[in-house]
Amino acid sequence: LSTDSDVVHRESESISKKSLRSNAEKFEFQAEVSRLMDIIINSLYSNKDIFLRELISNASDALDKIRFLALTDKDVLGEGDNAKLEIQMKLDKAKKIISIRDRGIGMTKEDLIKNLGTIAKSGTSAFVEKMQSSGDLNLIGQFGVGFYSAYLVADYIEVISKHNDDIQHVWESKADGKFAVSEDTWNEPLGRGTEIRLHLRDEAGEYLEESKLKDLVKRYSEFINFPINLWASKE
Ligand code: ADP
Ligand code: MG
Repeated sequence: LSTDSDVVHRESESISKKSLRSNAEKFEFQAEVSRLMDIIINSLYSNKDIFLRELISNASDALDKIRFLALTDKDVLGEGDNAKLEIQMKLDKAKKIISIRDRGIGMTKEDLIKNLGTIAKSGTSAFVEKMQSSGDLNLIGQFGVGFYSAYLVADYIEVISKHNDDIQHVWESKADGKFAVSEDTWNEPLGRGTEIRLHLRDEAGEYLEESKLKDLVKRYSEFINFPINLWASKE
């Protein structure tokens, strides 16, 4: 785990939290996903730390997938930084944003809509019911819906992703039943992989502490086979 104090400020990419990108294509979450997100957003569950475990594990899964493909086709990795199988976290204290970036397989537009909008598994309704009645959000990763736990700490999330088979897209949602997907013309090209940008809720200020994040990353990276770097802005 390494840290650095210069975070790159890319002002042009910061967009208003008041509304989603206006020219984006809008979608509705599957009903069960919407219910799940409502539970998460309104939850009094105190162990909010689990969001980082889930996002790190997704990044690691995505890196595993590209590494596996590279066994038979080395070209999928690309060159230079693209070939570095690593996870980068950035903490922007001023903007209250935590971002988690991987150079994994990435998601096409279709992947973003399907993977971050629907749950195909049977037993989903029962699971959502169980989560609601038990209040135990720790179950979330086991059922395979860990991504949504990010809404324990964020009220607006952008997922920027680049897959080898598609151009770069942004998925975004304020957990109000809708999400939007658009071609990404705002951000720096990722090359390949995914950046999850969490716009922190006011109550989640503790995660703006570098030491808190460092501890969590240390705890959750123990089982991860890829390097994780944490960058933090000074203020
Ligand atoms: P699970 O990881 O158990 O499948 P999640 O809710 O954590 O459930 O993630 C849902 C899906 O979204 C994943 O299966 C994957 O297809 C996609 N996904 C999430 N994060 C990433 C990422 N960083 N890179 C690529 N795909 C991702
Ligand atoms: Mg997961």
